[in-house]
Amino acid sequence: MRELSQVCVFCGSSSGSNGRHAESARELGKHLANNGIGLVYGGGATGLMGIVADSVLEGGGRVTGIIPESLSREVAHPGLTELIVTETMHTRKALMYERSDAFVALAGGFGTLDELAEISTWRQLGIYDKPVGILNVDGYFDHLLAFFDRAATDGLLKPKNRRLVLDAASPGELIELLRNDDTAYEPKWESRGTPAAPADEKSTLR
Ligand code: AMP
Repeated sequence: MRELSQVCVFCGSSSGSNGRHAESARELGKHLANNGIGLVYGGGATGLMGIVADSVLEGGGRVTGIIPESLSREVAHPGLTELIVTETMHTRKALMYERSDAFVALAGGFGTLDELAEISTWRQLGIYDKPVGILNVDGYFDHLLAFFDRAATDGLLKPKNRRLVLDAASPGELIELLRNDDTAYEPKWESRGTPAAPADEKSTLR
């Protein structure tokens, strides 16, 4: 079983029109706080990002926001436990990944999809062995999950790598899946092997 002391959440900087997403962001925040799991996220005060952060703080939990300089003045959440301002979007993402033990995507748009795709790729390459999961509320991610299945069926994604991205419909269930994820890293390129980047190289990405 994995120790989850910090979980990184990717989610919309908007709240969207379906109230189930705001509700699930609130529920996830509450679940993290109640289970002593700190939140790492993009540091914004708006949308589902703001809702999940507020919910953790209201529950007495710890929240670390990591935001690039370009966004920090306009949208940074003013009440976080810790706010880290980075020079670029890339250093921001690398630090979010380093600081977290697992990753959860909630509903969102391109930004959420970018972060989910990147961390899944990094895991597939063995840069990190940290579990990744999707909170699939109201079938929001059904088409994306079907796309992953199709990619595996068509031989563009190895079945064992398809299984690296977990999903569940409730926060409690998803956190349990992440905790119990025992998928061991296997190199994507079996003939050559893909060495993981050393820790100091990861933290200096620009
Ligand atoms: P999106 O799903 O397009 O709304 O983008 C949300 C994701 O991208 C979040 O997980 C953030 O890490 C990042 N992001 C996008 N917009 C912002 C913003 N205004 N403030 C902070 N982070 C943002």
